[in-house]
Parts: sequence; structure tokens; C-alpha cells
Amino acid sequence: MDHCSKSLREVNSPFDCLLFDLDDTLYSSTIGIAAAVKRNIEDFLVEKCGFPKDKASSLRIELFRTYGSTLAGLRALGYDIGADDYHSFVHGSLPYEVIKADLQLRNLLRSINQRKLIFTNSDRNHAIKVLEKLGLHDCFDQIICFETINPNLSISSRLDEFPVVLKPSIDAMKIALNVANIDPRRTLFLDDNDRNIAAGKSVGLRTALVGKVMKSKEADYALESILNLRQVIPEIWIMNGTDGGNHQIKRTRSEIMDSVLPATPVGA
Ligand SMILES: [Mg+2]
Repeated sequence: MDHCSKSLREVNSPFDCLLFDLDDTLYSSTIGIAAAVKRNIEDFLVEKCGFPKDKASSLRIELFRTYGSTLAGLRALGYDIGADDYHSFVHGSLPYEVIKADLQLRNLLRSINQRKLIFTNSDRNHAIKVLEKLGLHDCFDQIICFETINPNLSISSRLDEFPVVLKPSIDAMKIALNVANIDPRRTLFLDDNDRNIAAGKSVGLRTALVGKVMKSKEADYALESILNLRQVIPEIWIMNGTDGGNHQIKRTRSEIMDSVLPATPVGA
């Protein structure tokens, strides 16, 4: 190996693929969608399941902590709730108009040459609506969503036949890796939930906690906003490619000299 090829190899990106969570990762948790989802879930618990209004909030939190979602918890507890009915109630009346097109994020994503996938617990309708509102509908190669990780739920004859599988369960992580056919060691997983990040780490993914200044124990990186991606993880853009790649190599090499020399990852 000559010196030149060795240098190129050393500056190749460590990532072949980026796996993005959607809600509260590609847009801020503060714009009102997350709060509206919580309200709708609590309304569902009261109106469809008959729980007292003053218990709805604590029950929602408890089901989320124990089962990964309210739907998973309700089904595990024996409530015959269909996923489509649940999702249309919880997502059907969301104020999607508060999600604005994000040209800066679009340009950032379009500058990444690696495969880019969405991995969300949300249903496909919601995922597509959010991506369209953000103006990012054509920025991803694949959407791994509720229906992808629960393919048999709609044909189950008993509630316990196919338990709902969602992040942060290891089963959900493994299904996503399998469906996407990705090498976890060369995939960067970005999510705003530290339990999801921990699950990702346990299946071998490289991990970035989004929306936080401080890393969690299992996060390799922390990004206050997804828009900080280039500053915090510049190694994504190191490509020994063709065409536009030459420009990127020149740019990222100088960045490397600035950012990698301290030996610890930026954002540590
Ligand atoms: Mg999220």
C-alpha cells in the first residue's frame, strides 16, 4: 500500500449508513407536535378505554416506560385495540401545520452520500406526513416504521399472538437491522431518546443522541440539534468517492486536521 492510498483509507468515513429517528429528532420537540400526541393519547385512554381523566397522564407515562408505547401496553394488558384505530386517533388531529419546511436540514441531508433511512415507532402515514411537511420526503432511501417492525399485527387472531414491537426493544432494533440489511458497526443511529440510543448501542450501532448537550452513557455523540451534524460528526462527509467526492475530500481533510487530532470524538 502506498502512502497516498493509505492516507485516503485513513480518512474514509466510518459510516456506510445513517439511521434517523423521526419525531423530536428531525424537528424540535418544542413546536407542539409532541405535546399534542400526549394529549391525544390521554384522550384515547379516557374516551376509548374508559380510564378516569385524572389518571390518564400517569397511565400514559407508565405504559410508555413499561411497554414502549401506550398501544403496546394496552394490548399487553388485554385491551383489543387495533393499531390503525389507535394511530388514526392519536395522529389524525395533530397540528401538522406547525411543522415547517426545513431547507437547511434538507441541504444537509442531501450533502450526505451514504444511505439514509428513517427508523421510527410511528406509523407510515404519520412518517410520510411529517417528512412532506419538513420538505424531506425525497431525502431517504427507506422508511422503517411501525408497520415494518410489526408486519403480522393486522392478521393476528389473539392479542398475545404478536406483541407490539417498538424501540427500544432489542427485537425492534434487530428487525430494523435485518430489514435495512445494514452493518451496525458502520451505521450511525440518531435518536432523541436515550433508551433507544442504549438499545442501539447494544446491537452494535454507533450512536448519536439528538436534542441534548450531554452524551448519555451509550451515546458516542451528542447533538443539541440535528442541524449541528456537520460540526459534531464531520467524519460523515469523508468520502473517497468520485465526482463531488474530490471536493469533499479536500474540505473534510482540513476539517479532520482540526477535529480528529485531539483524539476524542468531537461532541464528547
Ligand atoms: Mg423520537
